[in-house]
Amino acid sequence: MTREELRNGLGRVHPRGGMGNRPMMRVVAVIPAAGRGRRMGGNIPKTSLLLGGIPLLRHTLQKFEVCSQVDEVLPLVPPEELSYWNDEIVLPSMFKKVKRVLAGGAERQDSVFLGLRAVAGNADWVIIHDGARPFVPPELIERALSETRRWKAVAAALPAGETIKEVSPGKEIVRTMDRTSLWTMQTPQSFEYNLIVNAHEKARAEHFAGTDDAALVERLGFPVRVIEGSRLNFKITTPEDLTLGEALLRYLT
Ligand code: C5P
Repeated sequence: MTREELRNGLGRVHPRGGMGNRPMMRVVAVIPAAGRGRRMGGNIPKTSLLLGGIPLLRHTLQKFEVCSQVDEVLPLVPPEELSYWNDEIVLPSMFKKVKRVLAGGAERQDSVFLGLRAVAGNADWVIIHDGARPFVPPELIERALSETRRWKAVAAALPAGETIKEVSPGKEIVRTMDRTSLWTMQTPQSFEYNLIVNAHEKARAEHFAGTDDAALVERLGFPVRVIEGSRLNFKITTPEDLTLGEALLRYLT
């Protein structure tokens, strides 16, 4: 892949047209970005951390802004940061597709649910993406949405590239997993709106906490289609990830 392709989002972004006679579906991107970033150390929520001098969340929002299939982008941020993000991105109309910013909840699942509820009646499909994954290729967003037309539930993932072992709390290896069928999940994950809302409502009613949204749909017994994600689409969690992010950003610009 050339540097040019990487910079432009790993290839061509498909125009909104060319979908035949299918009706236009309204697509909302829900971006949970309300984590406290404890693994980062310090007190700054990680989506406010600077990457190339720009808050991390802004990089992520930009990736959705350029996707022709996305109509609206809804970020959820820590409640105490609401006015900061309002001043930073909503008031200056920095992004055409970000009309508002909402306060997230206690857990990621709560933040996503708040986002889903806020767009009720206003979304046919939703694409959910961690604010902390700023290098998501726009091509991957577009591909997830195209696949959602067919599968209704789609999740980006990578086949496990390394040996995976179960390890005890005492740090002893318990067993080696057969990695041939193991994938590590990423976001974006995109769904028909009613399907993902039903999945979240059932999980809430049954006090089930999943680590991604696909897990909630799996519990409905509905098949979730996996599409190949990108190694660049890593989640910025630790100070090391931030260093990698800075280096990648310098390479791409
Ligand atoms: O905690 P984790 O790294 O899994 O978070 C993934 C994404 O979910 C991050 O973008 C984070 O900001 C977001 N999140 C959220 N609300 C929470 C916790 C995490 O929106 N309460």
